[in-house]
Amino acid sequence: MKTIAVYPGSFDPITFGHIEIIKRGLEIFDTVYVAVAANIRKKPLLTAQERVHLVQQSTLGFNKRLRVEAFDGLVVDYALKKKAKVIIRGLRATSDFDYEFQMALTNRNLTDKIQTLFLMPSQKHFYLSSSLIKELVWLGGKVSDFVPAVVEKKISRKIAAE
Ligand code: ADP
Repeated sequence: MKTIAVYPGSFDPITFGHIEIIKRGLEIFDTVYVAVAANIRKKPLLTAQERVHLVQQSTLGFNKRLRVEAFDGLVVDYALKKKAKVIIRGLRATSDFDYEFQMALTNRNLTDKIQTLFLMPSQKHFYLSSSLIKELVWLGGKVSDFVPAVVEKKISRKIAAE
């Protein structure tokens, strides 16, 4: 039987930290769905379509076992629909821990059929976040070490137009 995992998030925008987690996920699972949350409570800089497009552009040479989609509603419902048994989340500094633990337990309350699997990035991506990228671009900093060129270009244009 094929192993399927879902990697959900806002991806506003995708960073090299997310990309590392995607690659690690592909090492373990036959199929990985990057599930871009269409409706998020915090107002995103990019539309869902833009976020999906950037994930696709940033993973162009990747294996066909990777799928990128926008989704609405509960992650567990999406995962069940995709016949996934696992939700992948990235775990960075301890600041992620409380929130991620809460989410994982809440999802387990919703269904016991899906496990949450935490993957750690390498040290160089440990403190990297989408908010940091937006902040840096807004302040005129260089972000090419943290995101693909296509992302840097899009974010710079979007922030300049704000
Ligand atoms: P969300 O709003 O759902 O947290 P994000 O796009 O910020 O969406 O993150 C999606 C997932 O990727 C989360 O599990 C987050 O912890 C993880 N993640 C974000 N940045 C990194 C990074 N630099 N290294 C590893 N995991 C990361």
